[in-house]
Amino acid sequence: MIKIKINPLDVAKGQIDKTIKKLGLDPSIGRILKKPKRSIRVSIPIRKDDGKIEVFDGFRVQHIDSRGPYKGGIRYHPEVNMDEVTALSMWMTWKCAVANIPYGGAKGGVTCNTKELSIGELERITRRYTTMILNNIGPYLDIPAPDMYTNSQTMAWIMDTYSQFQGHLVPECVTGKPIHLQGSKGRSVATAKGLDYCILDAVKCLGMRLKGLRVVVQGFGKVGWNAARFLHNQGCKIIGLGDSTGGISNPQGINPTIVHWHKIETGTVQNFGTSKNITNEELLETECDILIPAALGNQITIKNAANIETRILAEGANGPTTSEASEILAEKDIFMIPDILANSGGVTVSYFEWVQNLHREQWSEKMVFDKLKNQIDCAFSEVYDKMKQYETDMRTAAFMVGIERVVACKQTLGLWP
Ligand code: NAD
Repeated sequence: MIKIKINPLDVAKGQIDKTIKKLGLDPSIGRILKKPKRSIRVSIPIRKDDGKIEVFDGFRVQHIDSRGPYKGGIRYHPEVNMDEVTALSMWMTWKCAVANIPYGGAKGGVTCNTKELSIGELERITRRYTTMILNNIGPYLDIPAPDMYTNSQTMAWIMDTYSQFQGHLVPECVTGKPIHLQGSKGRSVATAKGLDYCILDAVKCLGMRLKGLRVVVQGFGKVGWNAARFLHNQGCKIIGLGDSTGGISNPQGINPTIVHWHKIETGTVQNFGTSKNITNEELLETECDILIPAALGNQITIKNAANIETRILAEGANGPTTSEASEILAEKDIFMIPDILANSGGVTVSYFEWVQNLHREQWSEKMVFDKLKNQIDCAFSEVYDKMKQYETDMRTAAFMVGIERVVACKQTLGLWP
């Protein structure tokens, strides 16, 4: 894995400056956009299974709510910190605006290693964290969702904790819940579905055919494994896969579903059949047609950007490409589907879940995916048109669409008092 310390908050602020300049907006608006409205830092003490007390750091950052309640996932990872969560909250603001759903951006996180925690310890961390941010979340204020190393069980604990304090069940306070607890059909694969729809749009715009395209996926979790599965089912050849333990490659193609079971059995994607074990660095530099980073941020940097050999880069992860690397990829004419567009399927179906909960409805999976496809196709073509209009790249265009929408709301609402 490539280890370069890049502060994601610097990247996020740089993107705001660049976009404001490109849109010809008053630079002073940038001063507002570069600061979150509220940053919460909490200490989370829990009793471990061995009786000892451990204290974890927790964060919730709420960026801008001019377009609607704050929305964003909660990440459990050893490297979670305030700057990372702040950057992710900003990306959520632009992502919701690009997807054109009525939300602002937020993000949360707890600095912990879930692999070293029991299920009981995870529940105690989640419930205590929820209690500590309780006054700042809610169905019309801030609606959390899953992110890295959190899942529908985590969301069920958050909903239950919030509901206990309200005295009644409040399903609309969180999304990404289990389906039997008023989660939405299709939510668990929504990010990968949205990514798939974006890739289909890109392939069409580039005059390519999906069948037979060679795909490499970094990260084999909720986003990576489902994206690999969908593309494999549509006739693409998955020639490389990787997780936190390393990668595998096979030019003949890999069946991701069989790798999924192999990983459940052995804890790794490596040592799979006739595939060759490779490092994560080698995985990213494998020549392919579609490269999908779906793990952590800052994976494609100035160090390896020149060696990336793909036609399409579809960013499943948040912030996988640094600004400098992005410029190198644009020079190489790599068609980038930026994170705030490529992985917006997750938050879009989260929005559908919230609407279903508020209306006490349950939509069919077909209805969810049809609506998602419509939303993604609209977002993609708006960004694509902007790219053509300004003769720029897709990332810059996506930020232009997102920031322009938020600024329009801010300007009309005005500054109070
Ligand atoms: P996940 O926890 O389900 O999976 C993460 C995967 O990344 C795992 O396979 C893990 O082994 C791998 N990984 C972790 N560290 C790695 C490393 N150092 N090198 C290579 N692989 C590594 O998480 P997820 O929900 O699939 O999220 C993946 C990315 O997608 C994150 O950046 C997340 O912010 C982004 N994302 C997720 C959603 C969603 O709905 N889940 C929505 C939008 C964006």
